[in-house]
Amino acid sequence: RDKLAELHGNMFVEECVKCGKQYVRDAVVGSMGLKPTGRLCSVTKARGLRACRGKLRDTILDWEDSLPDRDLTLADEACRKADLSVTLGTSLQIKPSGNLPLITKKRGGKLVIVNLQATKHDRQADLRIHAYVDDVMTKLMKLLGLEVPEWTGPVVVESAEPARAEQLQGRLKEEKEEPLSHHNGTGTPCPGRGLKQECPSPATGPAPVKKMKVEPLLT
Ligand SMILES: [Zn+2]
Repeated sequence: RDKLAELHGNMFVEECVKCGKQYVRDAVVGSMGLKPTGRLCSVTKARGLRACRGKLRDTILDWEDSLPDRDLTLADEACRKADLSVTLGTSLQIKPSGNLPLITKKRGGKLVIVNLQATKHDRQADLRIHAYVDDVMTKLMKLLGLEVPEWTGPVVVESAEPARAEQLQGRLKEEKEEPLSHHNGTGTPCPGRGLKQECPSPATGPAPVKKMKVEPLLT
């Protein structure tokens, strides 16, 4: 949870208005706009005497709701530390989330925008790919030698694996000669169907993928 910033909520999560405890459910929670879901918090209070019993509400923001502080701070920190921001399937028009990837840029990192239509920050991007996110990610995962896990429902993981990033970099080094070269302005046609991309200059080649900032698709 400390590696994921969900700025606009999550359909599968409900949280206690009293103690802030979040519950990840197997099915969608069923309401929107931070409304009560009808269930109560079951956190046991100190000494195990009785449960919190605070009202649970959904986490999906409505237009006038402000973004959750904790997640916004997390996202901000991640964008500051990242060498590379990748935005997937967003027009980047809504503030403040849409401007977060620009922080990476300002701090010397690179920005990759994947979206079918033009976005607000196209001019700031080192690489723009006008294609379906599924197509791009399928190819990227293949290139990285990673399997796309089948969706079976929300899964809560206890921790992320930091060692993974180093493994990935090793693999990227081995493979960067050929498959990634079409990102490098060398004019190699992309093997995909109708995958269009623009490279502003040959100097802005692919940065090693260390950290990705993935925006939730929920609004
Ligand atoms: Zn509670």
